[in-house]
Amino acid sequence: MNSEPTTKLVASTDVLIVGAGIIGLAHAALAQQAGLSVTVIERDHRAVGASIRNFGHACITAQHGETYEMAQAGRKHWLDFAAKAGFWAIESGALVVATTETELQLLREFSTSRPEGQVMVLNAEEVRAKLGREHTEGLHGGAFLADDLRVDPRTTVGILAGWLHRQDDAAVHFNTTALGFGAGTERKARVETSRGAFEASHVFICVGHDVDQLFPSMAAEHRITRCALQMVSASAPESTTIVPAVLTATSMLRYDAFTHMPSAPALRAEVEAAHPDLLEIGANVMFTQRPDGTLLLGDSHSYDLTQAPFLTEATTGKLLQATAKVLDIDSFAIAERWQGIYASSEVAPVLVRDIAESITLVSVTSGIGMTISFGLAEANLTALTVPRSSATR
Ligand SMILES: Cc1cc2nc3c(=O)[nH]c(=O)nc-3n(C[C@H](O)[C@H](O)[C@H](O)COP(=O)(O)OP(=O)(O)OC[C@H]3O[C@@H](n4cnc5c(N)ncnc54)[C@H](O)[C@@H]3O)c2cc1C
Repeated sequence: MNSEPTTKLVASTDVLIVGAGIIGLAHAALAQQAGLSVTVIERDHRAVGASIRNFGHACITAQHGETYEMAQAGRKHWLDFAAKAGFWAIESGALVVATTETELQLLREFSTSRPEGQVMVLNAEEVRAKLGREHTEGLHGGAFLADDLRVDPRTTVGILAGWLHRQDDAAVHFNTTALGFGAGTERKARVETSRGAFEASHVFICVGHDVDQLFPSMAAEHRITRCALQMVSASAPESTTIVPAVLTATSMLRYDAFTHMPSAPALRAEVEAAHPDLLEIGANVMFTQRPDGTLLLGDSHSYDLTQAPFLTEATTGKLLQATAKVLDIDSFAIAERWQGIYASSEVAPVLVRDIAESITLVSVTSGIGMTISFGLAEANLTALTVPRSSATR
């Protein structure tokens, strides 16, 4: 139990954000840009959640419907804030590697379903060149998804939080845990924390997969569970530079834009027959390259309300074997292994719910939080009518 008094009012601003992952920071950054005063509180001394453990891939093109709209809406904000705050971002596009005719056929269908130039079908030689491989053996072709972006997941949220904190009308408080929510003075919402109380005209609670720790009934109602993913970082073969994010057949089974294509059932049957080992671990065999050249390789998916912290070596082995085939190498020099966790729900890809007057819970309940963060924040802030106040921080 917290022993410090929780009655002291620490700050009162237009907007208060709980959680300094990408969802919280995207809301904070756009609120600050709109001229609102902003406070962010984060329970850790620096954010170490899903937002630093991922591929850093804004997987815009492969979204479908509402999430596609959000992904496209957020694209310009990613680039704007990269320039303003100084984090690394690149208009890299994504490469989908096809190793069979069914995979390539699906990519052809996808290409014709999108505006010209957005999805470019490639031959085996063009795919080889983008991967920096020597031979085309095993490659059937692929597609280049032009709109996708990449950021460096290890550094982005730290730099964005630091930049926000340096703005006159924004502050980020680390090591500050939200404990309770209620009504404050002058019709503001109030958040009790481990360091006193904060008030704001509007509060966004962006705690990622920990929704159940604060709102167990709502998490149960939205059927939120934890999806755990195994990841690895490794040196790139012979200092290869691979600009786009790289996706494969298992990615085509997971992202909605692909699963809506006529060839999707045939592709699933084909992968079920050829790679049951990959489906068994819920694989999305993909990778990105960090600015220092390191490859981020993954990933597997397993679902549970509470996740065991242990990494299964056999799972990592299957992912590495499949990735080595894409790069036409024998093995990787592994640098790190880790587990990432994100919120998952079969009900909807996003949970946005007003839990009380002026308090909104926001959780991305699918593995696309980097992709839709800024678009989702833009939509949530557009819906707000917050009176500007004189802030105290
Ligand atoms: C391995 C992996 C790969 C992925 N790859 C991609 C990808 O390439 N592209 C993509 O679009 N998405 C990807 N995702 C999904 C994406 O990372 C997440 O959807 C996104 O990071 C969620 O952001 P968030 O801010 O909600 O959560 P987090 O980053 O987890 O942040 C939540 C923050 O809230 C804080 N918090 C929790 N409770 C409290 C409290 N009571 N008080 C104060 N602070 C609190 C936590 O400490 C944490 O810092 C991936 C996820 C994983 C795990």
